[in-house]
Amino acid sequence: MFFRMGTTLSAETRLASLNGRVPTIATLCSHSSLQIFHGARIEGFPTIGICVGPPPKFYDAFPLARPDEFLSVPTVKDLPQLTDQLRDDGAILVPHGSFVEYLGPEAFSRLDVPVFGNRAVLGWESDRRKERDWLESAGVTMPRLYEDPKEITGPVIVKYYGAKGGKGFFLAKNREALDDFHPTGPYVIQEYVLGTRYYMHFFYSPIAEGGYRLRDGSLELLGMDRRDEANIDELYKLGSAEELHRTGLRPTFVVTGNVPVVLRESLLPKAFEAAGRIVERSIELFGGMVGPFCLEGIMTEDLEFKVFEISTRIVAGTNLFISGSPYSDLIEPGLSTGRRIAREVAHARTTGRLAEVLS
Ligand code: ATP
Repeated sequence: MFFRMGTTLSAETRLASLNGRVPTIATLCSHSSLQIFHGARIEGFPTIGICVGPPPKFYDAFPLARPDEFLSVPTVKDLPQLTDQLRDDGAILVPHGSFVEYLGPEAFSRLDVPVFGNRAVLGWESDRRKERDWLESAGVTMPRLYEDPKEITGPVIVKYYGAKGGKGFFLAKNREALDDFHPTGPYVIQEYVLGTRYYMHFFYSPIAEGGYRLRDGSLELLGMDRRDEANIDELYKLGSAEELHRTGLRPTFVVTGNVPVVLRESLLPKAFEAAGRIVERSIELFGGMVGPFCLEGIMTEDLEFKVFEISTRIVAGTNLFISGSPYSDLIEPGLSTGRRIAREVAHARTTGRLAEVLS
C-alpha cells in the first residue's frame, strides 16, 4: 500500500503552529492515552483528549492522567475536521495503535497537525511485504514464509491479511495437517516459531546524546511485556489441537492484557543489535523511525530471536510501566514511555530541533 503522503500543508507550515508557544500534547482517548497524558503533565505540557462522543467517565477516576481539555467528535472519521482547531491550540498529536487503526493509516498520515515521530513509517509498517523488506534488509531474522506448501517441514501458522487479533489464524503441526485448512481469503503461510514471546519497548531519539549510540542518536530500552492472548493461551486445557479442530474450535490471538517480563541479561546485546539495525535501516529507507517502537518476536531454544512484527509507535504493553520498569529505572526512576515522549518534545524544543522529531 502506498500512501499519498500529501497533507494540505507543508511540514514547515504545520510546525509553524508551534512557534513561540508551549505545545499541547494531544491524543485519542484510548489505548495508552492515560500514560501519554500523565507523562506530558509531569513534563509541564497542557493536554487535550480527543474523544468520540462525550468524554469517557473513567478518566475522572485517574486525576493525574485526565487531560486538561476534551475535544469531542461524533466518529473517529470526523477527526480531520478538528485539525484547524488543534493547530490553533498548538497541538502535537501522539499516535498510538488504536488512533492509527481507527482512523486508518492513510487518513492519519494526511492529518494537517504536527505528529510526534515520522509519519512516513506508516506506509512501511502497515504493508506486511514492505515491513518484511525493511526488517530483513536490516539483517533481522523473521519467521520463514512458505510460497509452496510442499516445502513445509515443521509447524506453520496461516495468517489472513489484515486479520486483527489473529482472527481465523490456522495452526498446523505439519504439512499433512494443512489439508484441513480451507481458505476464505488471501493468506500467508508462515513458520510457526516455537519458543517464548517477547514484546520489547524501545525508544529511538535522533537528538539524544550519550547512552547506547547509533550512527545518529541513541537507542533506549524502556520495558518489556508478554501479551495475554485469548483463546490461545488457555486452549490447551481443552485437549489436543487435533481434538479441538474436530470439534470446530479454532485458536484466536486476541490481546486481552499484558504481563511484565525481563529478558535473560545475556540476550540483551542481541536485542539491542537487532533494534539498532532496524533503526539505521529506517533512516536509509525513509528518513528514520523516531520515538517509541516495539519489536515483537520469539526467542527459540537455540536463543535465536525471530521477529514476527514491528509496531512503530507506543504499544499498550507500556501501560504496565507508568511508574517505571526494570529497564527504564536504570535510565531514570519513574520514566514511562509516555513521559519519554514528552521529554523528547521538551528537549527538541529547547534545542531548536522540533523538525527532527515531528512530522
Ligand atoms: P495484531 O494486529 O492484533 O497485533 P496481527 O493480527 O497482526 O496481530 P500478529 O501480531 O502477526 O497478528 O500475530 C498475533 C499473535 O500470533 C502473536 O502475538 C503471537 O502470539 C502469534 N504469532 C504470530 N506469528 C507467529 C509465528 N510465526 N510463530 C508463532 N506464533 C506467532
